[in-house]
Amino acid sequence: MFTKEELMEIVAKRVENCTACPLYLTRTNVVVGEGNLDTRIVFVGEGPGEEEDKTGRPFVGRAGMLLTELLQETGFRREDVYICNVVKCRPPNNRTPTSEERLACKHFLLAQLEIINPDVIVALGATALSFFIEGKNVSITKVRGTPIDWLGGIKVVPTFHPSYLLRNRSKELRKTVLEDFKKAKSFIKEV
Ligand code: SF4
Repeated sequence: MFTKEELMEIVAKRVENCTACPLYLTRTNVVVGEGNLDTRIVFVGEGPGEEEDKTGRPFVGRAGMLLTELLQETGFRREDVYICNVVKCRPPNNRTPTSEERLACKHFLLAQLEIINPDVIVALGATALSFFIEGKNVSITKVRGTPIDWLGGIKVVPTFHPSYLLRNRSKELRKTVLEDFKKAKSFIKEV
């Protein structure tokens, strides 16, 4: 019987050796994810940016600092949750990963979520949302804050990506995302 740590290490090794889509050609480091494997809540973004590609860690650039702030304001410490992305290698110039790239990488995120088995997942942005709704064309603006049932029991709460908040600099939007984080927190089951 493997521990969660051992299982995640196996996933990480496979990601490190992965050449299943063209993003492997331009990556500096893969970015698997980090955090507490016993957490009840996982935050999923789109893909690594420049800082993440340099360091091999998720959400460490400006968007990451904002995410950390929002987590703290929700009552979480960053190290208590798990943070990862839909694709594990940086798309050049931070473009949106293509559907082929997302499909090639999909099994890694599925494996990570199976290992952690959280009560709730926060989908940060449209790319993360599309992972959980199988590519249906739904606007994040319309469905943010509305929980989706995924795999018969896990709640997925879609909200805006922190990068979007950085681009818009709206206090209202920031408040909205904070409310979505708090809603997501309310789906954590007491043990
Ligand atoms: S993005 Fe995913 S599928 Fe593509 S090379 Fe990286 S780990 Fe493999």
